[in-house]
Amino acid sequence: MTGGYMGKMLFVNLSNGKTEEKELTEEMARTFIGGYGIGAKVLYDMMDPGVDPLGPDNVLGFVTGPATGTSASGGSRYTLVHKSPVSGTWNDANSGGFFGPELKKAGYDAVFVTGASSKPVYLWINDGKAEIRDASHLWGKDTKDTWSALMSELDDKKVRVVAIGPAGEKMALMSCPINDGHRAPGRGGGGAVMGSKKLKAIAVRGSREIPVADPERIKDLNRKVRISMKSGPLSKLVTSVSVMGTGAGTTDSALGGDSPVKNWGGVGLLDFGEEAAKKIGSAEGDKYKVGKYACFNCPIGCGAKYEVKSGRWPVGETDRPEYETAAAFGTMTLTSDIDTIIKANDICNLYGLDTISTGCTVAWAMECYEEGILSKKDLDGVELKWGNGEAIVAITEKIAKMEGCGAVLAHGSEAAARKWGKGAEFLQTVRGIELPMHDPRFAPGYARTYQFDPTPARHVKGGLGMAHAAGAPVGDKHDYKTTGFLDVLLTTNQEVQNCAGFCLFVGVAFPEEAQNDYIEAITGWTFKSQHSLITGLRILNMRHAFNVREGLKPADFVLPKRAVGDPPLSKGPLANVKLDSDRLARNFFNFLGWDMSTGKPTVGSLRKLGLEEVAKDMYGDVV
Ligand code: SF4
Repeated sequence: MTGGYMGKMLFVNLSNGKTEEKELTEEMARTFIGGYGIGAKVLYDMMDPGVDPLGPDNVLGFVTGPATGTSASGGSRYTLVHKSPVSGTWNDANSGGFFGPELKKAGYDAVFVTGASSKPVYLWINDGKAEIRDASHLWGKDTKDTWSALMSELDDKKVRVVAIGPAGEKMALMSCPINDGHRAPGRGGGGAVMGSKKLKAIAVRGSREIPVADPERIKDLNRKVRISMKSGPLSKLVTSVSVMGTGAGTTDSALGGDSPVKNWGGVGLLDFGEEAAKKIGSAEGDKYKVGKYACFNCPIGCGAKYEVKSGRWPVGETDRPEYETAAAFGTMTLTSDIDTIIKANDICNLYGLDTISTGCTVAWAMECYEEGILSKKDLDGVELKWGNGEAIVAITEKIAKMEGCGAVLAHGSEAAARKWGKGAEFLQTVRGIELPMHDPRFAPGYARTYQFDPTPARHVKGGLGMAHAAGAPVGDKHDYKTTGFLDVLLTTNQEVQNCAGFCLFVGVAFPEEAQNDYIEAITGWTFKSQHSLITGLRILNMRHAFNVREGLKPADFVLPKRAVGDPPLSKGPLANVKLDSDRLARNFFNFLGWDMSTGKPTVGSLRKLGLEEVAKDMYGDVV
């Protein structure tokens, strides 16, 4: 097998308790790279359309990439893949930390879990051996206690664990697994899928060397990345993320229009204000900082440990909230209390909840309460007024424990609106997934990504949206005439970066072509920009094909009106901005050869990508 891969995938059937190793062929690795590329191919082949996402036939994968666990800077990531119980679409979400690298050191590029156990279990993968073990004693424990219990039980402090908390056990649709205590593949309900399989955790430990083709070239590239971090065009951004984490820009985002405000209906400068914006940034929160944290082999180290010893919520040692969390629980709810955000973040990490969806669901319920649509009785007596920190923490706890109204809200705002039969007019979701915390009125390209990435409502899928949000020099962001080529190019580049196992923040510091150079140095292949483009296109089409096979059409993906400025805001930095999101989408679809009404790629475009089987599924034997 080529460098960067262990050459093996583990398949675990929890219904019959069998485990099986399969070869990861070089052809598969070259064609789909890793992460959700390989994940999409495996799930497409193993699953039938129409599978119940919470039934035993959903396949849940934990997939690394060639960079994961190697000496390449930022190669820390694995991707969780499955059909989403929230959106009914293809789902992937990635996470850093140490779990992915350890999985590879244990001998596997990926683990795919099928079936469902009748009692709680965990999977113990130890240097090439896999064992399904009883987890009855872990059921009910939070994610950190589960990790500690497994370290004691396995008598190994270096064991790496991905685990669900009580929210995942109860199949809350906003739940997610947590690895290394706080890193999360957060979006799309992966925790509920683990819970449906009664899979409490996967513990991994390995001592194997991960082969790479050219270690000297990797060293040289790492040196270039370090230089770029210090003096490249984005060095200021990288330095601030290194010191203050993703929260470095929270204050500016809150005031400048990047962060959505007041459930997407407000204006940061007016409804939130400068003082409040300062309070929720890392500059304020870092008074609690007691240490720094970096994922495996990361030169940036954007994480930090906080310790809150006193005040309303003395949570002890905890993790610094990410930007997305600070905005979801901050600007979205008009809360400027950093202690509220830290406490809510802590609850989500312990119980295993996606902080974006949870904060946004609280914000939706707040607007419903303020508008008289939800009553105090509906909310178990909690006065969920804008900015009320005590109420936010109370509701978040109810969601985490699925108690009272929390049992409804834990499935997200759209499911709650459906269940209660009210509040749909205030939803800010695409196919049930709450929009993330970059406003398309500020970064227009995100309108297309949120609506039409095969995993809807995502901010880490590249494309023009990410470039607009980062202030990259990509021309007039409101000129929608010819966005297709650049949107596709930036998307495919991100497909490769994500699937290779790189963290996107480290990717920001890559000098030109470094990503492809790394892939060459790791694998020994020739991998130039044309290979990246075609591989990224293939991966994007493969994920999209999963949705098309599910019978989903473009018309099934609808953006909320506030996110596109319909009607436009009358004040603030986004005043009068109305997006032509249809045009953005058309440009993207046209460039890809995807039909705007059926969503189907053309036979020719699928053939060019070597996806003949997909073409046959879509068009039959006429192909
Ligand atoms: S930049 Fe942050 S999230 Fe990315 S690998 Fe480094 S520590 Fe992890």
